[in-house]
Amino acid sequence: REVTANNRTLEARMRESRSEIEALRETLEATRLESLTDALTGLGNRKSFEESLRKSVDLQSASAQQGKPASLIVIDIDSFKRFNDLYGHLTGDQVLRLVAIVMREHIGQKNATLARFGGEEFGIVLPETDRVEARAIAERVRIGVTGRELVKRSTGESLGKVTVSLGVATQREDDNAVSLLERADACLFAAKRAGRNRTLDETEVENLRDVA
Ligand code: GH3
Ligand code: MG
Ligand code: MG
Repeated sequence: REVTANNRTLEARMRESRSEIEALRETLEATRLESLTDALTGLGNRKSFEESLRKSVDLQSASAQQGKPASLIVIDIDSFKRFNDLYGHLTGDQVLRLVAIVMREHIGQKNATLARFGGEEFGIVLPETDRVEARAIAERVRIGVTGRELVKRSTGESLGKVTVSLGVATQREDDNAVSLLERADACLFAAKRAGRNRTLDETEVENLRDVA
């Protein structure tokens, strides 16, 4: 009788431990997700962006350039400082959320990572996506942002429209996450210089250089 009683106690303890472990596992997963999320927009944060970029580039390198390359879109809001100065930081934050919504609306690709990796800088990591496809996605986002009129919630006042500039780079042999990001950034910089509210990919930037 004593042995049976001991066994029951033991079983009850084990059940308890099991459910404790399960609860801990759930908390751990929630914490992990939180550590990768940008609280303002709900997109990925810088850590998420860097991890995805590294993984996408490695994936392609590992398959020895057989499949499609990875592409990267970087997005920067145009003249955002002026917008903040005019309407305040909180309204500026609303613009950041709007850009995130438009990004989500226009990217159907399930394996894409959408992130806000800097203050007003966003990135889209696209595994197995070539230059032409990536550029088309970037244009959809750009046009989507232009199409949204901003309305101040508290007063209903129209704040006009915002625009974004985008740079698109596609993975080459020997690329790593840093070199790919640098090239996408260079395209973004060229898009800004060319007048803003536009997308430039590497081929276009090279052609611009030839003309200059
Ligand atoms: P450009 O067209 O060349 O990109 O001009 P810009 O004014 O957007 O660029 P700049 O880098 O001079 O300014 C970026 C501004 O973004 C500065 C800062 O006020 C704003 N900003 C950065 N992070 C946040 C944020 O989290 N919330 C808000 N509201 N503003 C932010
Ligand atoms: Mg910026
Ligand atoms: Mg900007």
